[in-house]
Amino acid sequence: MTDGAMTGGIDDGIGDAIAATFTRLRTTYDSGRTRPHAWRRAQLDALRRMLREHRDDFAEAVHADLGKPVAETMLTELDLVAAEARFARDRIGLWTRRKPVVMPLALQPAAGWTVAEPKGVVLVIAPWNYPVLLTLEPLADALAAGNAVCVKPSELAPRTSALLARLIPRYLDPDAVAVVEGGAGETGALLAHPFDHVFYTGGERVGRIVMKAAAEHLTPVTLELGGKSPVFVDGTADLAVAARRIAWGRFTNAGQTCVAPDYVLATPDVAEALAERIAVAIREFYGDDPRCSPDYGRIVNVRHVERLRGLLPAAAASTAAPAGPARPTSSLIRVASVFGAVSDMVRRRLGSSGGGPAPDAAGRVVCGGVVDRAARYVAPTVLFGTSPDAPVMREEIFGPILPVLVVRDADAAIRFVNARPRPLAAYVFSRDRATRLAFERRTSSGALGFGLPLGHLLSARLPFGGVGASGMGAYHGKAGFDTFSHVKTVTVKPERPDTLRLVYPPFDAMTRGV
Ligand code: NAD
Repeated sequence: MTDGAMTGGIDDGIGDAIAATFTRLRTTYDSGRTRPHAWRRAQLDALRRMLREHRDDFAEAVHADLGKPVAETMLTELDLVAAEARFARDRIGLWTRRKPVVMPLALQPAAGWTVAEPKGVVLVIAPWNYPVLLTLEPLADALAAGNAVCVKPSELAPRTSALLARLIPRYLDPDAVAVVEGGAGETGALLAHPFDHVFYTGGERVGRIVMKAAAEHLTPVTLELGGKSPVFVDGTADLAVAARRIAWGRFTNAGQTCVAPDYVLATPDVAEALAERIAVAIREFYGDDPRCSPDYGRIVNVRHVERLRGLLPAAAASTAAPAGPARPTSSLIRVASVFGAVSDMVRRRLGSSGGGPAPDAAGRVVCGGVVDRAARYVAPTVLFGTSPDAPVMREEIFGPILPVLVVRDADAAIRFVNARPRPLAAYVFSRDRATRLAFERRTSSGALGFGLPLGHLLSARLPFGGVGASGMGAYHGKAGFDTFSHVKTVTVKPERPDTLRLVYPPFDAMTRGV
């Protein structure tokens, strides 16, 4: 930043640079350069080449920002963007084809069709938790639709943001694709310009700021927000499978995934055993001390570490760095489950001696509960018997803590979910057909997974987005192409015969029934 005058939290120089970027993108778009399919395909090919040639650089940057395991970045970020770009690239012709419609008899002879045209100059505002995926996947969709694009990566993933700012202009058309780095000030300055679409991923509070700013220009928005995604488990489910899948969904990226299972509602017959099985799965995935596992990530910054600490039961939250209760608890559970069941006796022992602090509203710590601020480490933590009023149930956790609550049955679980804002995802582990159908028909969420957390975001054939408080609009594959396109209606009527004469005034011939 320079010493120049400040406007809206940024200095004039940055504001001017952002204005110049917007003008450059607008000029390029207006020139028609981004419309030909060949240009769009070339951009998507270049995007994939960039990911291929800088795989290690991206993995390193994300590791530096988030402590994310390299393999996880490749699987859950780079490969997904490459697949999305490829999927869209191969379908541009199909998606842009005219779609004929039958015109009403009264207008015949006539023809009509719809055709997708690019929205124009679009803005993509990305968050930090999947800093490559959530910047480049919307970018791929916007390019497939033929737009000029400005991306604003998150300042909370600075290494990844800097890498994107360095590489994107080298691989993509620099007059049509721009990267603006920065935080709230820069985003505010961008939003002052009349973009043709704003695509925002992040929290609800900023979502409202973005939507208000966009309203000034009547700019349409897509809001990819978060929320508390519930999981329901009943006695018909295979507990070991459910526990592994829930643990995978919750603890990938140290829980910082928008569609991660946020809390579990389980029926009384299985709730406690499930909590313990999840602890077993955690140990299978990350070993005795997850801090030493190369496969377990870190929390983005100390502010979030402290926020998460505040959600833990009071006694656990005061735990400092060392290994904590995870190990003895998990090993006892593992031994017990090897023999087919966790007995009541073992369960009582876990609750009293090995299982951490005494219960409070947040529940009992089944495993984890360890926080190391300096290392930005929060152990994968399972809580059991959490009260619906506990702080951990009042906000999206967005970290490696999983409360397990007991509910009487599926009906009670549905009422619980419906009494709260509509989540980005809901997951059900039940073999009972009626229970599954009840969740499908009676709850509303961005997506619903039976036995499958996170899975829906891996397919370019499935629209991805929220509903209500979890967002509006969708992307991925065709849904992404549609988001960044305007569907234009085209009609044509030959000059002869001029059948429209029948509806021209004066109308007395019509009203007299002539
Ligand atoms: P974040 O802090 O990185 O913010 C997101 C973007 O908003 C960033 O680019 C940031 O610079 C910008 N921003 C921040 N403050 C701003 C302001 N005052 N004005 C304008 N722009 C501003 O991300 P976050 O909000 O911490 O993200 C976490 C949330 O995002 C969680 O709720 C999570 O569930 C949600 N999320 C949703 C999805 C999805 O696909 N639906 C994906 C990832 C994260």
